[in-house]
Amino acid sequence: MRRRCGSSKVCPICECFEESIEHLLFDCQWVRAFGCNLNLNIGHGHPSSVQKWTSQIVDDLKGEQLMGYLEKIVMIAWHIWKSRNDFVFNYNPVDPERTLRKAFAAIYEFSELRIPSLIHTDNLTVEDVYSRWKAPDHGSFTLNCDVAVHHNGREGICAAVLRNSEGILVDGQVINAKINSPLHGELVAIRLACGMVKSLGIRRAIVESDNQMAIKLSVSELVSPWDVAAVVLDIRQLCEEEDIKFAWIRRNANGLAHSVAGQAPKGLLPVNWVASPKDTTRSFTRTI
Ligand SMILES: [Zn+2]
Repeated sequence: MRRRCGSSKVCPICECFEESIEHLLFDCQWVRAFGCNLNLNIGHGHPSSVQKWTSQIVDDLKGEQLMGYLEKIVMIAWHIWKSRNDFVFNYNPVDPERTLRKAFAAIYEFSELRIPSLIHTDNLTVEDVYSRWKAPDHGSFTLNCDVAVHHNGREGICAAVLRNSEGILVDGQVINAKINSPLHGELVAIRLACGMVKSLGIRRAIVESDNQMAIKLSVSELVSPWDVAAVVLDIRQLCEEEDIKFAWIRRNANGLAHSVAGQAPKGLLPVNWVASPKDTTRSFTRTI
């Protein structure tokens, strides 16, 4: 927000005042409209400095309420900045209502992402969601991913299993990872699978997970929660290089990866579990 484009210091929108951050966010005529709407000043009058104003908010509010409020103002500030730039560079008139709508859409999207276990039913039809594992088409490979989260919540066993069109287990990897959340663990497992696609030179691959949010983040350009952003970035990068499709599947269709991730911490997986899967694993490869 500190950047100023162009040589003039005068606000490009109202052309009346110097374009300070405070002017841009609170004082310019077009943003005043939503200042009152949003109770942005929470009783402190017009802030003379954004820094002071923010630290006042931090003093006044606590916990969830503070997080929610900060999220809201950051998103709104960002969209005000974008609208300002759209005006300066593309000559699109500023529109408080549209700016606010976009900011709220972003806030909503972000709040959804903060709930990793949220079950979404939108965008996915029944056909998309296999209730039973299906082998891929001839010439394609499927990688199922899962994580078993340690009871301390900070470590996970991430597993990726690779099967061919006959449903035969071809390869698999299990890793220990430090994780921030189950979603983070699921994404690490997906990254592991994408890494296998690359290192094995698989041409057509489908990566499957029973965590819908992890799949959504992998396939879309949704803004990631900060604590998983790095993994998501890795996955998207790998997808640009390789031909990888993603699918969200029901939990009971993800039995093999689930079983592998679950057995590894108990030491139940033999060293060469891929070449000689234990009976349980073998039965999974046939039936699930
Ligand atoms: Zn102005």
